[in-house]
Amino acid sequence: MGVLDRFRIDGKVAIVTGGSRGLGKVMAQALAEAGASVVVTARTLDSAESAAREIPGGKAIGVACDVTKADDVDALVARTLSEFGRVDILVNNAGINIRGPIETLKEDDWDAVIDTNLKGPWLCCRAVAPHFKKQGSGRVINLSSMLGEISIPDRTPYASSKGGLTLMTKTLALEWAKFGVTVNALCPGPFLTEINTALIKDPALNAAFVSKIPLGRWGDPQELGAVAVFLASDASSFMTGATLFIDGGYTAQ
Ligand code: NAD
Repeated sequence: MGVLDRFRIDGKVAIVTGGSRGLGKVMAQALAEAGASVVVTARTLDSAESAAREIPGGKAIGVACDVTKADDVDALVARTLSEFGRVDILVNNAGINIRGPIETLKEDDWDAVIDTNLKGPWLCCRAVAPHFKKQGSGRVINLSSMLGEISIPDRTPYASSKGGLTLMTKTLALEWAKFGVTVNALCPGPFLTEINTALIKDPALNAAFVSKIPLGRWGDPQELGAVAVFLASDASSFMTGATLFIDGGYTAQ
Protein backbone atom coordinates (compact mmCIF):
# COMPACT_ATOMS: atom_id res chain seq x y z
CA MET A 1 0.00 0.00 0.00
CA GLY A 2 1.42 3.40 -0.99
CA VAL A 3 1.64 6.08 1.64
CA LEU A 4 -1.18 8.18 0.15
CA ASP A 5 -3.45 5.09 0.04
CA ARG A 6 -3.27 5.02 3.82
CA PHE A 7 -5.32 8.23 3.85
CA ARG A 8 -8.23 6.63 1.93
CA ILE A 9 -11.32 5.74 3.96
CA ASP A 10 -13.39 4.09 1.24
CA GLY A 11 -16.30 2.08 2.61
CA LYS A 12 -16.13 3.73 6.04
CA VAL A 13 -19.09 5.56 7.59
CA ALA A 14 -18.57 8.82 9.47
CA ILE A 15 -20.84 10.88 11.72
CA VAL A 16 -20.00 14.60 11.98
CA THR A 17 -21.99 16.46 14.65
CA GLY A 18 -22.77 20.12 14.00
CA GLY A 19 -21.62 19.56 10.43
CA SER A 20 -23.86 22.07 8.68
CA ARG A 21 -21.35 24.95 8.82
CA GLY A 22 -17.88 26.01 9.91
CA LEU A 23 -15.21 23.44 10.70
CA GLY A 24 -17.72 20.55 10.82
CA LYS A 25 -18.85 21.21 7.26
CA VAL A 26 -15.28 21.31 5.97
CA MET A 27 -14.41 18.07 7.78
CA ALA A 28 -17.57 16.32 6.52
CA GLN A 29 -16.67 17.28 2.95
CA ALA A 30 -13.05 16.18 3.40
CA LEU A 31 -14.05 12.77 4.83
CA ALA A 32 -16.44 12.25 1.91
CA GLU A 33 -13.71 13.21 -0.58
CA ALA A 34 -11.42 10.62 1.06
CA GLY A 35 -14.06 7.94 0.41
CA ALA A 36 -16.39 7.81 3.43
CA SER A 37 -20.16 7.93 3.56
CA VAL A 38 -21.07 10.79 5.86
CA VAL A 39 -23.94 11.50 8.24
CA VAL A 40 -24.10 15.26 8.74
CA THR A 41 -26.01 16.38 11.80
CA ALA A 42 -27.45 19.73 12.82
CA ARG A 43 -30.15 20.73 15.26
CA THR A 44 -32.61 21.30 12.40
CA LEU A 45 -33.29 18.78 9.66
CA ASP A 46 -33.25 21.53 7.00
CA SER A 47 -29.67 22.60 7.74
CA ALA A 48 -28.45 19.01 8.07
CA GLU A 49 -30.00 17.99 4.76
CA SER A 50 -28.83 21.06 2.90
CA ALA A 51 -25.22 20.47 4.07
CA ALA A 52 -25.51 16.80 3.05
CA ARG A 53 -26.71 17.84 -0.43
CA GLU A 54 -23.54 19.92 -0.86
CA ILE A 55 -21.41 16.78 -0.49
CA PRO A 56 -20.80 15.42 -3.98
CA GLY A 57 -21.28 11.74 -4.76
CA GLY A 58 -24.61 11.10 -3.00
CA LYS A 59 -23.06 9.24 -0.07
CA ALA A 60 -24.22 11.71 2.57
CA ILE A 61 -27.42 12.11 4.57
CA GLY A 62 -28.54 14.82 6.98
CA VAL A 63 -30.01 13.94 10.38
CA ALA A 64 -31.44 16.30 13.00
CA CYS A 65 -29.73 15.84 16.36
CA ASP A 66 -29.23 18.03 19.40
CA VAL A 67 -26.10 16.53 20.99
CA THR A 68 -27.24 17.54 24.48
CA LYS A 69 -30.19 15.13 24.24
CA ALA A 70 -29.50 11.43 24.80
CA ASP A 71 -32.60 10.33 22.84
CA ASP A 72 -31.52 12.39 19.80
CA VAL A 73 -28.00 10.93 19.95
CA ASP A 74 -29.22 7.33 20.27
CA ALA A 75 -31.63 7.91 17.36
CA LEU A 76 -28.74 9.37 15.29
CA VAL A 77 -26.65 6.22 15.69
CA ALA A 78 -29.68 3.99 15.00
CA ARG A 79 -30.41 5.97 11.79
CA THR A 80 -26.75 5.73 10.71
CA LEU A 81 -26.85 1.96 11.13
CA SER A 82 -30.17 1.57 9.32
CA GLU A 83 -28.96 3.74 6.41
CA PHE A 84 -25.36 2.52 6.01
CA GLY A 85 -25.15 -0.69 8.10
CA ARG A 86 -22.16 0.43 10.17
CA VAL A 87 -20.42 3.34 11.85
CA ASP A 88 -16.62 3.75 11.81
CA ILE A 89 -15.77 7.39 12.52
CA LEU A 90 -17.31 9.80 15.02
CA VAL A 91 -16.35 13.47 14.78
CA ASN A 92 -17.55 15.26 17.92
CA ASN A 93 -17.57 18.72 16.42
CA ALA A 94 -20.74 20.48 17.69
CA GLY A 95 -19.74 23.21 20.10
CA ILE A 96 -20.63 26.66 21.43
CA ASN A 97 -18.84 29.46 23.26
CA ILE A 98 -20.37 31.98 25.66
CA ARG A 99 -17.79 34.56 26.75
CA GLY A 100 -17.69 37.00 29.64
CA PRO A 101 -16.23 37.72 33.06
CA ILE A 102 -17.43 35.06 35.49
CA GLU A 103 -19.64 37.42 37.52
CA THR A 104 -21.60 38.45 34.43
CA LEU A 105 -22.29 34.89 33.26
CA LYS A 106 -25.52 33.13 34.14
CA GLU A 107 -25.72 29.59 35.46
CA ASP A 108 -27.63 28.76 32.26
CA ASP A 109 -24.60 29.93 30.21
CA TRP A 110 -22.32 27.52 32.08
CA ASP A 111 -24.85 24.67 31.66
CA ALA A 112 -25.33 25.33 27.93
CA VAL A 113 -21.59 25.30 27.16
CA ILE A 114 -20.80 22.27 29.33
CA ASP A 115 -23.83 20.34 28.02
CA THR A 116 -22.95 21.00 24.38
CA ASN A 117 -19.15 20.76 24.47
CA LEU A 118 -18.63 18.05 27.10
CA LYS A 119 -21.82 16.08 27.73
CA GLY A 120 -22.61 15.99 23.99
CA PRO A 121 -19.38 14.18 23.01
CA TRP A 122 -19.81 11.87 26.03
CA LEU A 123 -23.34 10.92 24.90
CA CYS A 124 -22.12 10.37 21.31
CA CYS A 125 -19.20 8.19 22.43
CA ARG A 126 -21.50 6.18 24.68
CA ALA A 127 -23.89 5.61 21.77
CA VAL A 128 -21.23 4.29 19.36
CA ALA A 129 -19.41 2.23 22.03
CA PRO A 130 -21.20 -1.12 21.51
CA HIS A 131 -20.77 -0.90 17.73
CA PHE A 132 -17.08 0.05 17.79
CA LYS A 133 -16.36 -2.70 20.33
CA LYS A 134 -18.28 -5.33 18.37
CA GLN A 135 -16.52 -4.55 15.09
CA GLY A 136 -13.11 -4.21 16.82
CA SER A 137 -12.39 -0.87 15.19
CA GLY A 138 -13.48 2.76 15.29
CA ARG A 139 -12.17 6.30 15.27
CA VAL A 140 -13.22 9.19 17.48
CA ILE A 141 -12.07 12.72 16.70
CA ASN A 142 -12.97 15.13 19.48
CA LEU A 143 -12.89 18.81 18.54
CA SER A 144 -11.28 20.16 21.65
CA SER A 145 -9.38 23.46 21.41
CA MET A 146 -6.11 25.18 22.17
CA LEU A 147 -8.23 26.49 25.08
CA GLY A 148 -8.30 22.95 26.45
CA GLU A 149 -4.57 23.38 27.13
CA ILE A 150 -3.95 27.09 27.71
CA SER A 151 -6.47 29.82 28.46
CA ILE A 152 -7.41 33.47 28.11
CA PRO A 153 -9.68 35.55 30.34
CA ASP A 154 -13.50 35.49 30.05
CA ARG A 155 -13.67 31.89 28.89
CA THR A 156 -14.48 29.95 32.10
CA PRO A 157 -17.25 27.73 30.63
CA TYR A 158 -15.54 27.15 27.27
CA ALA A 159 -12.01 26.43 28.51
CA SER A 160 -13.40 24.18 31.27
CA SER A 161 -15.44 22.23 28.72
CA LYS A 162 -12.49 21.80 26.33
CA GLY A 163 -10.05 20.88 29.10
CA GLY A 164 -12.57 18.24 30.13
CA LEU A 165 -12.91 17.01 26.55
CA THR A 166 -9.14 16.63 26.19
CA LEU A 167 -9.08 14.47 29.35
CA MET A 168 -12.16 12.52 28.22
CA THR A 169 -10.22 11.79 25.03
CA LYS A 170 -7.28 10.33 26.95
CA THR A 171 -9.59 8.32 29.24
CA LEU A 172 -11.50 6.73 26.37
CA ALA A 173 -8.28 6.12 24.42
CA LEU A 174 -7.15 3.95 27.33
CA GLU A 175 -10.58 2.38 27.85
CA TRP A 176 -10.96 1.39 24.19
CA ALA A 177 -7.37 0.62 23.13
CA LYS A 178 -7.90 -3.11 23.62
CA PHE A 179 -10.83 -2.99 21.19
CA GLY A 180 -8.80 -1.43 18.38
CA VAL A 181 -10.59 1.90 18.72
CA THR A 182 -8.57 5.13 18.66
CA VAL A 183 -9.65 8.39 20.26
CA ASN A 184 -7.80 11.64 19.57
CA ALA A 185 -8.32 15.31 20.28
CA LEU A 186 -8.03 17.74 17.41
CA CYS A 187 -7.37 21.15 18.92
CA PRO A 188 -7.92 24.10 16.62
CA GLY A 189 -6.54 27.51 17.43
CA PRO A 190 -8.20 30.58 15.96
CA PHE A 191 -10.22 29.75 12.84
CA LEU A 192 -12.47 32.15 10.98
CA THR A 193 -15.94 30.73 11.66
CA GLU A 194 -19.18 31.97 13.19
CA ILE A 195 -18.12 30.93 16.69
CA ASN A 196 -15.62 33.82 16.59
CA THR A 197 -17.96 36.46 15.12
CA ALA A 198 -17.90 38.61 18.28
CA LEU A 199 -14.10 38.82 18.15
CA ILE A 200 -13.85 39.40 14.39
CA LYS A 201 -16.47 42.21 14.41
CA ASP A 202 -14.49 44.32 16.87
CA PRO A 203 -11.47 45.72 14.93
CA ALA A 204 -9.40 46.51 18.06
CA LEU A 205 -10.06 43.11 19.66
CA ASN A 206 -9.40 41.39 16.35
CA ALA A 207 -6.06 43.16 15.77
CA ALA A 208 -4.92 42.48 19.33
CA PHE A 209 -5.84 38.82 18.97
CA VAL A 210 -4.17 38.32 15.58
CA SER A 211 -0.98 39.96 16.89
CA LYS A 212 -0.69 37.04 19.33
CA ILE A 213 -0.84 34.35 16.62
CA PRO A 214 2.74 33.46 15.60
CA LEU A 215 1.74 32.80 11.97
CA GLY A 216 0.09 36.26 12.04
CA ARG A 217 -3.35 35.31 10.70
CA TRP A 218 -6.56 33.42 11.38
CA GLY A 219 -6.73 29.80 10.24
CA ASP A 220 -8.80 29.02 7.15
CA PRO A 221 -11.36 26.24 7.92
CA GLN A 222 -10.13 24.42 4.80
CA GLU A 223 -6.82 23.87 6.63
CA LEU A 224 -8.56 21.43 8.98
CA GLY A 225 -10.00 18.98 6.43
CA ALA A 226 -6.79 17.08 5.73
CA VAL A 227 -6.04 16.75 9.44
CA ALA A 228 -9.46 15.18 10.03
CA VAL A 229 -8.80 12.70 7.21
CA PHE A 230 -5.42 11.86 8.78
CA LEU A 231 -7.04 11.11 12.17
CA ALA A 232 -9.88 9.13 10.57
CA SER A 233 -7.64 6.97 8.40
CA ASP A 234 -4.95 4.29 8.64
CA ALA A 235 -2.38 7.09 8.29
CA SER A 236 -2.77 7.63 12.06
CA SER A 237 -3.12 3.94 13.01
CA PHE A 238 -0.64 4.06 15.95
CA MET A 239 -1.99 7.29 17.37
CA THR A 240 -4.45 7.34 20.28
CA GLY A 241 -5.02 9.63 23.25
CA ALA A 242 -3.13 12.34 21.40
CA THR A 243 -3.77 16.06 21.44
CA LEU A 244 -3.07 17.61 18.07
CA PHE A 245 -2.81 21.42 17.88
CA ILE A 246 -3.62 23.23 14.63
CA ASP A 247 -3.22 26.73 15.95
CA GLY A 248 -0.72 28.78 13.94
CA GLY A 249 1.81 28.30 16.74
CA TYR A 250 -0.36 29.80 19.50
CA THR A 251 0.32 27.08 22.13
CA ALA A 252 4.05 27.03 21.33
CA GLN A 253 4.47 30.40 23.11
P1 NAD B 1 -19.57 27.08 14.43
O1 NAD B 1 -20.30 27.90 15.43
O2 NAD B 1 -19.42 27.60 13.04
O3 NAD B 1 -20.17 25.61 14.33
C1 NAD B 1 -20.60 24.89 15.45
C2 NAD B 1 -21.68 23.94 15.00
O4 NAD B 1 -22.19 23.24 16.16
C3 NAD B 1 -22.86 24.67 14.38
O5 NAD B 1 -23.27 23.98 13.23
C4 NAD B 1 -23.93 24.59 15.46
O6 NAD B 1 -25.25 24.62 14.97
C5 NAD B 1 -23.60 23.24 16.08
N1 NAD B 1 -24.20 23.05 17.41
C6 NAD B 1 -24.16 23.91 18.46
N2 NAD B 1 -24.86 23.38 19.48
C7 NAD B 1 -25.32 22.16 19.06
C8 NAD B 1 -26.09 21.14 19.67
N3 NAD B 1 -26.57 21.24 20.93
N4 NAD B 1 -26.38 20.03 18.95
C9 NAD B 1 -25.92 19.92 17.68
N5 NAD B 1 -25.20 20.85 17.04
C10 NAD B 1 -24.91 21.98 17.75
O7 NAD B 1 -18.14 26.80 15.10
P2 NAD B 1 -16.81 26.11 14.52
O8 NAD B 1 -15.75 27.10 14.61
O9 NAD B 1 -17.08 25.41 13.25
O10 NAD B 1 -16.55 25.06 15.71
C11 NAD B 1 -16.58 23.66 15.54
C12 NAD B 1 -15.89 23.04 16.75
O11 NAD B 1 -14.51 23.43 16.77
C13 NAD B 1 -16.49 23.46 18.10
O12 NAD B 1 -16.48 22.36 18.98
C14 NAD B 1 -15.52 24.52 18.56
O13 NAD B 1 -15.52 24.68 19.97
C15 NAD B 1 -14.22 23.98 18.04
N6 NAD B 1 -13.18 25.01 17.91
C16 NAD B 1 -13.31 26.04 17.04
C17 NAD B 1 -12.31 27.01 16.96
C18 NAD B 1 -12.38 28.17 16.00
O14 NAD B 1 -11.54 29.06 16.09
N7 NAD B 1 -13.32 28.25 15.09
C19 NAD B 1 -11.19 26.92 17.79
C20 NAD B 1 -11.09 25.85 18.66
C21 NAD B 1 -12.09 24.90 18.72
